[in-house]
Amino acid sequence: MKKIFEALLDLIYRKKCYFCGSSKNSLKMCPNCYEKLEFNSFSANRVVEGVDIFCAGIYTKELQKLIRGLKYHKQKELAYYQAKFMHDYFSKIEKLKNVDFELIPVPLHKNRIKKRKYNHMELVCEEFSKLSGFECNFNLIKRVKDTKPQYKLSRPQRLENLSGAFVVDKAFYTGKTLLLMDDICTTGATFEEMIKALKDAGCNKIVCFATSTPM
Ligand SMILES: [Zn+2]
Repeated sequence: MKKIFEALLDLIYRKKCYFCGSSKNSLKMCPNCYEKLEFNSFSANRVVEGVDIFCAGIYTKELQKLIRGLKYHKQKELAYYQAKFMHDYFSKIEKLKNVDFELIPVPLHKNRIKKRKYNHMELVCEEFSKLSGFECNFNLIKRVKDTKPQYKLSRPQRLENLSGAFVVDKAFYTGKTLLLMDDICTTGATFEEMIKALKDAGCNKIVCFATSTPM
């Protein structure tokens, strides 16, 4: 009887892997599926406005499911795995060692937060903060323009769409090097607009870091 009861509890409470469905490890992402995430090369993916952009992984099947699960399907527990993947990558970059970063998620407009209930990149930053010891700063830069989704736009259209989208509140600037964090870096337009707004406000020490890039 006890055995049946335990099996029943297991059935109810054991977590299933969001990726393969296995409940063997009772984890939201089992080690097998985590292993499938592929790192990008361990150097800056590109330089925009004189700022290095690092992209931790290639936007392949598992990473896509991880990012989209957190962003669109309310799978908040995935924030930890996204942050862990970024941190595993980050730890291997010599250039980023011995810097006391402050973590800045790409901000969402308040209308978007109302719809999605949370900013997924804030959740990733919080988890990354636990892994790295760096502090988060969610107040320095705000998104004041409710921009259109970018995926169908060309690079010039993206820049136009994002023009004037970000406003910096210098009262929250601590002087630390800023690590801007996003999930996907496609053309780099979002980072570029953030960099411009931050530099205009006199915040010049910046590094960009995306979970993934399709290229
Ligand atoms: Zn799995």
